[in-house]
Amino acid sequence: MDREIITIITPCYNEEAALPVFYREVTAVLSGLPYAYELLLVNDGSKDRTLQVMRKLAGGDPHVRYLSFSRNFGKEAAMYAGFCNAKGDYVAVMDADMQDPPSLLPQMLEKLQSGEYDSVATRRVDRKGEPPVRSWFARRFYQIINRISDADIVDGARDFRLMRREMVDAIVSMGEYNRFSKGIFGWIGFRTCWLSYENVDRVAGETKWSFWKLTKYALDGIINFSQAPLNIASWFGLFMTAFSFIMLILIVVRKLAFGDRVAGWPSLACIIIFIGGIQLFCLGVIGQYIAKIYMETKKRPHYIIAESNLEDCKTIR
Ligand code: UDP
Ligand code: MG
Repeated sequence: MDREIITIITPCYNEEAALPVFYREVTAVLSGLPYAYELLLVNDGSKDRTLQVMRKLAGGDPHVRYLSFSRNFGKEAAMYAGFCNAKGDYVAVMDADMQDPPSLLPQMLEKLQSGEYDSVATRRVDRKGEPPVRSWFARRFYQIINRISDADIVDGARDFRLMRREMVDAIVSMGEYNRFSKGIFGWIGFRTCWLSYENVDRVAGETKWSFWKLTKYALDGIINFSQAPLNIASWFGLFMTAFSFIMLILIVVRKLAFGDRVAGWPSLACIIIFIGGIQLFCLGVIGQYIAKIYMETKKRPHYIIAESNLEDCKTIR
């Protein structure tokens, strides 16, 4: 019988320094396991020599396969490209910066082998080495999104997880353009086992996530996996309508009882500005969803591959 295959997907953006270290460590772990394996490196339009490093690694080791995008499409697109092209019976996503310890792999495989789980996911127990403000916002984000969406998203969860083929097929079948993997993993279900480990610092290079990028990512997550903002907008509209109706009655009664006096225009101005503000805000919320629909209906490819050493590579998807 053929040995089962493990695929390790690694999105890389400007990782020329970290990639050789990653390759060495992962190979050391994988070659000791009773499985066949492939390293599927995805170059996400790096501006440094990452692609050259990939070519070199692939030249010296048939286990290494690589895809190179025509530009930077983002980590989500890179992971999707990996899932679409992975051959493995077991598939894992790992960052190139060694923040996902390869030493966990044997333990993860063991869990899957027991047949009790379909995927083994990892989460950081602490946020050591991260600015406190960022941790605070991250915690709030997880609280909110879990309350308002039906995708189960775990605080501190990393994209590092090992999955069975069935789960990978389910992910590939979710072809949405606006991807939020943490939500997709939770939404498709299956039995997931969680492993906790302490946060590890990057070996080389620096994080590609600024605070602003993270905020946008969090908002994307909420809009992609929840209709709560739309519901809040309509409930608020309903409340304001009811409130203004009551005010209308009060004003008419007052006019009939006490006659009309021209007074109170500042409060009127305040109310008009307030309601105008809310209307614009709600329009903005609706606009966010429409923008997503707009992008989805265009059916643009998730990524474009400019170069690869795969035989049957799906160039555009
Ligand atoms: N990455 C990518 N495309 C991007 C940004 C990041 O493929 O546009 C990759 C990056 O090379 C790394 C992984 O995604 O392997 C995680 O990125 P990073 O370490 O910057 O994120 P952090 O660990 O700080 O959350
Ligand atoms: Mg990292």
